[in-house]
Amino acid sequence: MIMVLFSLSAAMNSQDIKMTNSTIDNKVKALLTKMSNEEKVGQMTQITVTNFEVTGRKGVIDAAKLKEGIQKYHIGSILNVPNPGAPTVKRWREVIATISDEANKTRLKIPVLYGIDAIHGASYTQGATLFPQQIGLAATFNTELVKEGAQISAYETRASSLPWVFSPDLDFPRNPAWSRMWETFGEDVYLSSKMAVALVQGFEGDGVGSKYQVASCMKHYIGYGSTTTGKDRTPSIIPERILRQYDLTIYEAAIKAGAKSVMVSSGEINGTPVHASKYLITDVLKNELGFAGVVVTDWKDIIYLYTRHKVAESNRDAVKIAVMAGIDMSMVPEDFTFYTDLLDLVNKGEVPMSRIDDAVSRILKMKFELNLFENTVANPKDYPDFGSDKHIQKAYETAAESITLLKNKESVLPLNKNEKILVTGATANSMKYLNGGWSYTWQGENSDTYAADKFTILEAFQNKIGKENVLYTAGADLEIENDEEIEKAVALAKEASKIILCLGEKNYTETPGDISNIYMSDSQIKLALALAKLDKPIILILNEGRPRLISDFESKMNAVIQCYLPGNEGARALVDIVYGDVNPSGRLPYNYPRYPNSLEKYNRKYTESISEGEQNDDAKYEKSYLPQYEFGTGLSYTTFKYSNIKIDKKEISSSDEITVTVEVTNSGFKEGKESVLLYLSDNVASITPEFKSLKRFEKVILAPSETKTITFTLTPQDLKFVNNDLKWISEKGTYTIQIGDQKVDFLLQ
Ligand code: BGC
Repeated sequence: MIMVLFSLSAAMNSQDIKMTNSTIDNKVKALLTKMSNEEKVGQMTQITVTNFEVTGRKGVIDAAKLKEGIQKYHIGSILNVPNPGAPTVKRWREVIATISDEANKTRLKIPVLYGIDAIHGASYTQGATLFPQQIGLAATFNTELVKEGAQISAYETRASSLPWVFSPDLDFPRNPAWSRMWETFGEDVYLSSKMAVALVQGFEGDGVGSKYQVASCMKHYIGYGSTTTGKDRTPSIIPERILRQYDLTIYEAAIKAGAKSVMVSSGEINGTPVHASKYLITDVLKNELGFAGVVVTDWKDIIYLYTRHKVAESNRDAVKIAVMAGIDMSMVPEDFTFYTDLLDLVNKGEVPMSRIDDAVSRILKMKFELNLFENTVANPKDYPDFGSDKHIQKAYETAAESITLLKNKESVLPLNKNEKILVTGATANSMKYLNGGWSYTWQGENSDTYAADKFTILEAFQNKIGKENVLYTAGADLEIENDEEIEKAVALAKEASKIILCLGEKNYTETPGDISNIYMSDSQIKLALALAKLDKPIILILNEGRPRLISDFESKMNAVIQCYLPGNEGARALVDIVYGDVNPSGRLPYNYPRYPNSLEKYNRKYTESISEGEQNDDAKYEKSYLPQYEFGTGLSYTTFKYSNIKIDKKEISSSDEITVTVEVTNSGFKEGKESVLLYLSDNVASITPEFKSLKRFEKVILAPSETKTITFTLTPQDLKFVNNDLKWISEKGTYTIQIGDQKVDFLLQ
């Protein structure tokens, strides 16, 4: 009976949504016919209204620019934060109300759409719940948890009267040194696609018009994360076959999940800036993938077509190229050049009205779907849970499931609460390193002030075992060498029985985070080596956005924990893991490289694994594959045993599904969560096959001695790759499925 009721209400809901959608289409059409060319071009313009001249005051908006933007240029959208720093929810409401009042003075009263980089929670609002950054979400391998987190983020962002987030990031990083690595879901296409769907569904919900949902924005379409140099906003070279098999697959999944908008990559692929590519934006994204939402540029990127990429002679030329490529909205923060040039192009017939109408319809549709015509300012009564304990608990759980135990020699962890410890290292006592960028401000430099009521790693240890049991000194700066501090740390270490060494990176976002050296900084390596000389167990805590190489001292560390950028609740979760109150269950979503010239992915082609001892064997070394830690690494305080792998068919045709079962047993003494990963290898293929690729995963919880049978179903698509004719195909032959240490083969006839 319950089931019947459920499906009935689901059917009603989907009908309601259909009705709403067609009503919205009619409203869009009706409004469009009333609009002048000026009003249409204005809708396609997005600016900031930050008053850069007024400093030292929070939440200042440039009233003159706001008025000019709305009344004279009819702008459709505003982005980013009143400078400087993060407003409170109340202040956000005032800001949005001011904008709304201005919009209501216009002829058609079209609401202005506010977009924000709310990246790991409502990260530009004081008091919001901040989750781990995306790379940590991927490490949870728990899509349900990630979706719940996204729902909370949507709720709190909407509580701030902000309806549009520039998230999720669907970039597919091919060089782990890239400064936006932590904004991604790591190196695997299947994991990224699943996580993308979870975030989009969490943000967007399943309907239109809800006050608890936000429009998501997939970014940065496409190939942005694959810069050849590893530096931000530098060119990529990606054969289309590869682009389709990996990067595009993630977008396809997110579009199907309902993403309402997309932001274009600031980069260029094979010599064509993506903002100038009609092929990628219109032919592939809009036509082939059927994306019906809004395509927005990234920061000033139309201007950059002539000033940076130099594929246009002038701004006017650049505007024409980008709009004809399929851009719907221009993020042109500081001026109105886009508006002026586009209007001229339209009036002279150089950009057809059909293209403008397409762009404006998409923008208006999004505004109707977000219910902005009815209401732009949130009512506090609707959001009693903003920053609530319930929300904070979810952020804590997410951090706890993301933190990844990479090494635990002789089971040095969990620690005993009665032992005196030394906590040291440059990242030990800072909120800004735990949160990273896009936190309260662009570079995240103010987390220590805005999250002063949260706990740093040091404070979380002190809370856990008492201040008297925790010795502390910074030991090192992130960059500057300081021998006195090192000596102090060494001296204190002698009084402690274990050392908690916290290393990592500064907070950074985008190009300011570019590095030339992927190793952990010299000042931190020096501290690690000095402490390693003592005969004390060292627990290395990594707090970093990308894998900084630790091969110079890793062998001397007894335990290694990767906590990524775990957000405001991260330190509590970390310390609970260190003491065994939480059993770790995160898994690494990328290969942690050992050497700078050894950046192979786990799904490499034929490079072989070798052991460290074999490195002097030249023949072996040539083909070496020796990451510091492999994708999927993640230890627990219990052990899991895999057995009895079975498939329902030994031979299949290209249209068959195949069902795989495996038993997983908790063979240790502690309850634990295990992410069961299924890898597939195509043993022979016309294009060199990947060594193995992730096709399914499921996270399960098991009590000691408990066994669960896990069932996975592979579809025909899972066997396919993109061939040189850009077609997805599967080929006859044997395939191997691997889950844990269990393997089974089947034949595709
Ligand atoms: C970044 C985007 C961001 C946008 C708006 C750009 O510089 O590349 O990721 O959403 O700024 O702040």
